[in-house]
Amino acid sequence: MRGAVIHAPGDVRFEERPDPTIVKPTDAVIRTIAACVCGSDLWRYRGVAEVPHPTPIGHEYVGVVEEIGSEVRSVHPGDFVVGGFLTSDNSCPHCQAGQHANCQHGGGYDGCQAERIRIPLADGTLLATPEQPDPDLIPSLLALSDVMCTGWHAAVCAGVRPGSTVVVVGDGAVGLSGVLAASHMGAARLIAVSRHADRQAIARDFGATDIVAERGDAGVRHVMELTDGIGADAVLECVGTEDSVSQALASARPGAMVGWVGVPHITELPQNHMFWKNVGLRGGPAPVRAYLPELLQLVWERRIEPGKVFDLELPLAQVADAYAAMDERRATKVLLRP
Ligand SMILES: [Zn+2]
Ligand SMILES: [Zn+2]
Repeated sequence: MRGAVIHAPGDVRFEERPDPTIVKPTDAVIRTIAACVCGSDLWRYRGVAEVPHPTPIGHEYVGVVEEIGSEVRSVHPGDFVVGGFLTSDNSCPHCQAGQHANCQHGGGYDGCQAERIRIPLADGTLLATPEQPDPDLIPSLLALSDVMCTGWHAAVCAGVRPGSTVVVVGDGAVGLSGVLAASHMGAARLIAVSRHADRQAIARDFGATDIVAERGDAGVRHVMELTDGIGADAVLECVGTEDSVSQALASARPGAMVGWVGVPHITELPQNHMFWKNVGLRGGPAPVRAYLPELLQLVWERRIEPGKVFDLELPLAQVADAYAAMDERRATKVLLRP
C-alpha cells in the first residue's frame, strides 16, 4: 500500500509502505475512505518540530474495517468507522473519567494519510456508523476525528451554556468548529475573531452573531464594546500562541473560564488577566472517544455539518500538495481521498 511519509521539513512523499497487519488481538485494519491534514502536522512540515528520520504521518481518518483481531467485539469487517487522533481502550480509570486523551494504554498511529491503517485498541478507539453513510456525510464524519471534537472540547471546557456570551479566538478549522459547538450549546451572543472573509462566512454559517477582525488589544477593545464593557461568559482559545492566549484571557469577564485547545507555544501566562479577575484556563487534547457517540449522532441526523471546514479536496496521492496548500494558507483544511 502507499502512504504519506515526512522526510524533512517541506518534504512529504507518498510512497510504498508495508501493508498493515493485525499485530495484537485488539487491533483492526481499515481501508481508508478519507483522511486529512491537521494544523499540527504542519509543525513538522514547517520545521517547528523536528523530523529526526522519515516518519509516516497523519492522524485523522474515516474508513471501512477490513480485518479484526480475535478480541475485537464492537466493530466488524465492512463497518464504516470513525476514530480519534489518539487510540484509547475506553475502559481504564482515565477513560472511565472521560479523559480518553490520557488513556493508560492509548497512543498514536503509524501514519493515517495512507491507503490502509492499523488501528490499535479498535474497540476503545473506533465507533461504527449505524449503516454505510451517504457520500455527502463523509466530510463531516471525518471532521469528528479531530477538529470538531477539539472545538467541542473547547466549548465544554469554557462552560458554554444556553444564553452565554461566547468569544472564539482562532478561525482555523478548530476555531470554526468551536463556533459550531458553542452555537449548538445555545450561545446567545457568539463573537468569532477572524480577519479572513471566507472564514468569517463559515463562522456566520456556523452561528456566529458578530465578527471581530482585530487582534490583540484592539480585538479585546472590540469585544468589550460589544459586551458593554463586561467581557465574555466563556472564551474558546483555538490557536495556542502567546498573543492569542492573552487575547482570550483578556476577553473573559471576571469569573469566566477559557477553554484552551490551541496547542500551547507560550512561555508564561498573564497573571493580571487571570488571578485578579478570577479567570480560569481549562483544556488540553480533546477526549475524542468520549464525544464521538453524541457528535456522530448529530452528524448522522444532519443537525450539524462540521465538514464545511474542508475547503479543498485532493487525491491522497497528492498529499504533498495538500501540505503546501495549508502551509501557504491557500486552504483551511484539505480532505484527501485514496
Ligand atoms: Zn489533528
Ligand atoms: Zn483508557
